[in-house]
Amino acid sequence: MAAKDDIGRARGFLMSRPDYESAKAVIFGIPMDWTTSFRPGTRLGPTRIREASWGLEDYSFAVDRSLQDVPFYDWGDLELPFGNVIAGLRIAAEATRRFLTDGKMPFMLGGEHLVSLPVIKEVKAKHEDLCVLHFDAHADLRHQFFGEELSHATVMRRVVEVIGRGNLYQIGIRSGPKEEYEFAAENTHLLRGDFLTAVDQAIASIGERPLYISLDIDAVDPAFAPGTGTPEPGGCTSAEIIEAVHRLGKAKVVGFDLVEVSPAYDPSERTTVLAAKILREAILSYC
Ligand code: MN
Ligand code: MN
Repeated sequence: MAAKDDIGRARGFLMSRPDYESAKAVIFGIPMDWTTSFRPGTRLGPTRIREASWGLEDYSFAVDRSLQDVPFYDWGDLELPFGNVIAGLRIAAEATRRFLTDGKMPFMLGGEHLVSLPVIKEVKAKHEDLCVLHFDAHADLRHQFFGEELSHATVMRRVVEVIGRGNLYQIGIRSGPKEEYEFAAENTHLLRGDFLTAVDQAIASIGERPLYISLDIDAVDPAFAPGTGTPEPGGCTSAEIIEAVHRLGKAKVVGFDLVEVSPAYDPSERTTVLAAKILREAILSYC
């Protein structure tokens, strides 16, 4: 894989550095949406999130820190063979392995949620006692979806197989068949009730263990984030998800992803702007 020196700073995420070697963190996009069930289009998410980022300040009043204080590199999007799930996931794994080997903290932009799987697998290979915190409207715990074990509707079931029973925390979940909740009751920490109280419970339970955060934008209510493939009413506010990102600065975060932003359903661009702000606050809070 050749270094993408041709990205051009203005096309990368706000204030991303031109130098990979000195970067502590790497943003990379996995523009895959081939298993999306309802409305495709998340392959265009990373590009639009980068563009939206340039409308934001690089300084965060909440964190009292600027992106200029954090050396991070934007790799751009991985080049994937359209329609080939296995090859797409393999390329995603190879890229993640390289970033981790080079000592970079991964900040991945999807894409559909299935792309979190290869990234989490690689992070788990580096951090044996890894926990995953999953924000989503959907449990994503199906064993199969339309006969397929690799789908954005099965991704967290596969993640449980990778990180082990009891190491997955789920917040925002409000959609899924009864069987998924039954599986969750036996195998994951599905935290219900007040959103930010659940975040505090997860932080307390995870403690000092390394944590990967996987954030499906549809965890947020469609009133604040309509630009996604499977919107589900009844979610948290944009203020709550940003506050959650801040509070998780207390945890030992070793990787982060933001998935399922679908620009075609986002004519006001409020979803991509929210996604860009979430990523800014995550970089400032975890690096
Ligand atoms: Mn999901
Ligand atoms: Mn979802």
